[in-house]
Amino acid sequence: MSGVSLRLDVDAWRRHLRVVSESTPGIVPVAKGNGYGFGLPRLALEAQNLGADTIAVGLPAEVALVRDGFAGDIVIMMPWRPDDDLARELLADPRVISTVSRVEDLAAITTLVENAASKPRVIMEVRTSMQRHGVRPDDLVTVPGRLDAITFEGWTIHLPLLDQGRYLEAERLARAALATVAAPLWISHLPVAEATTLAKQLGGAGREPVPMRLRVGTRLWLGDPGSVSTVATVLDVHPVRRGDRVGYRQRRIAGNGWLLVIAGGTAHGIGMEAPTAASSGRQRLVALATGGLEAAGRALSPYTIAGRKRWFCEPPHMQSSQVLLPESVPPPRVGDDVRVELRLTTAVVDQIVEV
Ligand SMILES: *Cc1c(COP(=O)(O)O)cnc(C)c1O
Repeated sequence: MSGVSLRLDVDAWRRHLRVVSESTPGIVPVAKGNGYGFGLPRLALEAQNLGADTIAVGLPAEVALVRDGFAGDIVIMMPWRPDDDLARELLADPRVISTVSRVEDLAAITTLVENAASKPRVIMEVRTSMQRHGVRPDDLVTVPGRLDAITFEGWTIHLPLLDQGRYLEAERLARAALATVAAPLWISHLPVAEATTLAKQLGGAGREPVPMRLRVGTRLWLGDPGSVSTVATVLDVHPVRRGDRVGYRQRRIAGNGWLLVIAGGTAHGIGMEAPTAASSGRQRLVALATGGLEAAGRALSPYTIAGRKRWFCEPPHMQSSQVLLPESVPPPRVGDDVRVELRLTTAVVDQIVEV
């Protein structure tokens, strides 16, 4: 199969998924955005096979992409807002848990569901040092008076990715929240060992730990780099000579060699992140030494051929890229797959090939 492929060692990957799942009590697999390169329907099926009782999506529109493959509850992590029609509609879905981040939205929901048959399921977000969303710790005391119209499923706390101060922040915010209403805690980005300690600590000596749900995305789906790799098909190979002009920009080739046209472009997320501009002094020197003056300011591509990343001729096109190979390197053949480095949280692959 040609194009950009995610090669998945499916047995190794599933072993890893199971290890993470079994060592993370209360795990809530996160399936959002591009599905970490796998797509949301695929992640829904894998979460189902893992036996998870709850999955987390980012946006209301993502609920439809997981609900057939996954039988349990679906948390929407993007905060509920009154002007979002789909978010409003999903309040009535008994499998959906909405995240609410402002006290006034609780009031809006109360008005909306006045005569509804069932109460919407809601978790309340506590503002952390991320300063993204959530009720300020000082305002938490106003929450208990506004819970009559909903089923309160717990507090959510989304921590920054730094280790420093993380546990203390989680503990401080959790205590403030639990002091107003005792409920499960939905935590993101706290390691399992710390979460377990925190659950016990908050429960208090001789009492049950506070119920905790841990939302995990990257560490679950992409935590075993050995089972996932990305390759792209060589679509054409042309001999080129120094001075030849190529590409949309008609740049001159700096030395004899091979022009490779390889699957993968901006539509796949190539050139969005991985290619490093030759901006540092050392990289410029390398560029000058290998390609001459013309190469200065060029970008290193994410394609590896004969053991090294190779230079783009010009910025990637929508679905393919033009890459230079020096004369001294035997070129790949049309149809060969070459390694391409992709950031799987931004990439879109043409297919998943199970190996
Ligand atoms: C995206 C997201 C996660 C998962 O993040 P990873 O770093 O991929 O594990 C967890 N919690 C919230 C609130 C998120 O938005």
